[in-house]
This record gives sequence, C-alpha cells and structure tokens, in this order.
Amino acid sequence: MSRTILKGGCVLTLDGALGNFREADVLIDGTKIGAVGPNLQAADAEVIDASEMIVMPGFIDTHRHIWEGILRNIAPDALLDEYFVNILGVLAPVYRPQDAYAGNLVSCLGAIDAGITTLLDWSHIQNTPEHSDACISALKESGLRCVFAYGTPNLDMPAWWHDSKLKHPHDIRRIAKQYFSSGDQLMTLALAPRGPEFTTFDVAKHDWELAREIGVRISVHVGVGLAGKQGKLGAMGKAGLLGPDTTYIHCCTLSDDELQMIADTGGTVSLASPIEMQMGHGTPPIQRCLDRGLRPSLSVDVETTMCGDLFAQMRSVLTLQRAMVNEQRLAGKERLPDILTSRDVIEFATIQGARANGLDSKVGTLTPGKEADVIMLRTDRINVLPINDPIGVVVRGMDSSNVDSVFVAGQPRKRNGKLLNVDLARVSKLVYESRDYVVGKSNFKLPAI
Ligand SMILES: [Zn+2]
Repeated sequence: MSRTILKGGCVLTLDGALGNFREADVLIDGTKIGAVGPNLQAADAEVIDASEMIVMPGFIDTHRHIWEGILRNIAPDALLDEYFVNILGVLAPVYRPQDAYAGNLVSCLGAIDAGITTLLDWSHIQNTPEHSDACISALKESGLRCVFAYGTPNLDMPAWWHDSKLKHPHDIRRIAKQYFSSGDQLMTLALAPRGPEFTTFDVAKHDWELAREIGVRISVHVGVGLAGKQGKLGAMGKAGLLGPDTTYIHCCTLSDDELQMIADTGGTVSLASPIEMQMGHGTPPIQRCLDRGLRPSLSVDVETTMCGDLFAQMRSVLTLQRAMVNEQRLAGKERLPDILTSRDVIEFATIQGARANGLDSKVGTLTPGKEADVIMLRTDRINVLPINDPIGVVVRGMDSSNVDSVFVAGQPRKRNGKLLNVDLARVSKLVYESRDYVVGKSNFKLPAI
C-alpha cells in the first residue's frame, strides 16, 4: 500500500481534539490518514514538500445539480421562475444521456479543481435509465467522492414540478443493486425527491418512505420562495416523517416552527446563500438556523447562475450573517447573536458538509483513520502572502488559484495546480458538443451580449 507524507505544512485538521498546527506533517497511508503531527517518520513514504502550503480537509458541497455543467453561466441574471421555465422546462427535456454525462463530468472536474473532495449530485435528469447510467459513469470517472442523489425525470416540467401527482421512479431499486451494493466505495446513494411544497402530501410521503425502505438518505428542497410558505413541511413533520436521515436545502421561507422540527428531529441543512439571495428563494435562514443549533452545510446549487467553488460560499454566508447582526447593532439593539467567524464557516464547508452528506465518520476532518481527502493550498502566492491567520486566509483571501493539490481517498487528483489524468481537450469537445446540441434542439437563445 502506498504511503505519502505531506511534510512541513501548516495543518488545519479541524478536529477539535487534535488541534491545528503551524507546522506539521500528514501521513497518507493508502486510502486513509495514517497520522498527523510534527516530525513524523515514515522511511518508505513518498515525501511531498508542504512548506508553502496550508494542508486541510477537502471542501464538501452538499447539493449541486451537476447535469447542468454544460449550461454553466447560461442564465446569469435569472430569477427562480425563469430558471424553472428555461432550464427545467426548455433545456432539460431534450437532454440525451451523453449530455448528462458531459455536464456531470465537467462539473465534477471543476469541483476537484476548486479543492472540493465530496459533492452531492442532486440529479433530476433521470429521463431514462440510460441517463442515470451516464450520470453515474461520469461520477466514477471523475474520481471525486460523490453522493448520487437520484431525482426524478425532467421530461415534462409541469407534470413533475407543479403540485405533481407523479411518484418517484422505482428505478432507484435497480441502481441501488447495480452500483451501490458495497459500502466501501467512493460513491454513495441518496434519494432526491421533490420537496413537499412541489407535490401532494401523499406523493411526498410515498417518496420519503421509498428512501427509507431502500435505506438511503434524503436530500430535499424546502422553503423555496412563496411555495415554501404553505406549511407543507410542517404537515410532514406532524405526520412523523422528518428524521436525522434528511438534509433540507434552502429552508428560506419555512416557518420558525418548521425549522424547529428539523432541529428537533436531527436533520441537517444545506444553504446555497449566493443563489438564494439572487434568485428569489428568500433570505438565507442562517441566523434562524444558528439560533436552533443547526450548523449549516454549504452548497453551490446551480452553475447556470453562480460559480462552483466553496470560497465564494463561505464568504457569502459569513458576510450575510455579519451584515444582519451589525445592522441590529447600528439600530441600537442589545443582546445580539454572536457574529460568525472564519472558524465557523470553514467548518460549515468541511465537517458540517460531511454530516449533511452522511459521511462524517469518513471525511470532514484530518483525523487519523478517516479517509485521506486532503487539499493543499498555496500560501506563497501574491494574492495571500504573508500568511498571518491561516484559517482567516482560507476563508477571506484564497480562491481556486491557491488549490495546489487534491487527494481523494489518498489518490492524487490535482498536483502542482494541475488536474491529473484529465484530457482537457476531450472534455472541452464533449461539453461544447452537448451544449450545442441541447441549445439547438430546444431552440434556446443564448444570452445576448
Ligand atoms: Zn437546488
């Protein structure tokens, strides 16, 4: 089994018991973290100089619709309704399996490039079983740790998304058997049902019971714009359907009682605050979550409209929460909530992401025995030197250009600032071919410039 030692880096384990180190080594032992500490000895290990690096756990994205990878920035100014009409109503129905594959592949590779080591693929492009197979094939090829959250077909927008009476497809049973019979692999399976506000109570109940029968986690959109104000999650809660196996995305327009139900039942939350703020989901409920002890995870959501890295996510949720608290202070209010710190949000982007993806026993901190999902961030670049506060610089000062190396389960996927084993010319060709096909077939008009 191969051993690699990352030598002399500033190590942020983000493990409370282990602490962080101004200078230490990280031993990667096969697929796992073998040890963390100063002056580790491992005679047989390959040595990688980390002296100009911050070494930390990879970032974790808890919700992204990566089939839309071929549609990056295609709807930069869209509000939610326009997104529904154009992306889900016009473009998605013409997708072929190879288009879903191309979207998934480019989005996964972009995630790795940005230091993301785990991503939940919220995959509602299951137009045929072949589409599902194509999505999974791209996830496997990318080398990213993924949660494949199996969603609905997207052939008919009104039928699936407006008070839909269509039940979730049962092809998930085949997929579970065919691809997910082992727990010892990079991919895990989840169910991505429409939220109760997009369907009837009976269908939502059916879908959630289907996930539990198969034994997979649920990732669901709730509290989205006006639809989220109908109290439908509350009805699910009263029926005893909420549980710790569920991640609730957005939650912007849920009532306080509904948020409390999530907290009381051990649920987790995924915020995509840049998207929520600009597309009209509602104000990201960061403070309302924190008030109830819900430490959120972060998610990119849609690359049609926002960038695909977690640096932007961390800064967005941090500045929003601080703006809201500071506004109250300026208004003379007292007994204010604590303002978020860099340490809070770096944890949202790592360990809280691991929890929301059901993987906190495996990833999210650099703890010996966990999987070696590790990133190295360059500190000798003109955008960040000199390094004064290592956590602060990751959250406030860095971007994807600082991501030097990415290891997933000990496998290097990016080294020296370059993705490994990726034929960029091939990926580019696939993406442009699929984009041209989908846009042409649907008669979608690219934005004017
Ligand atoms: Zn979403």
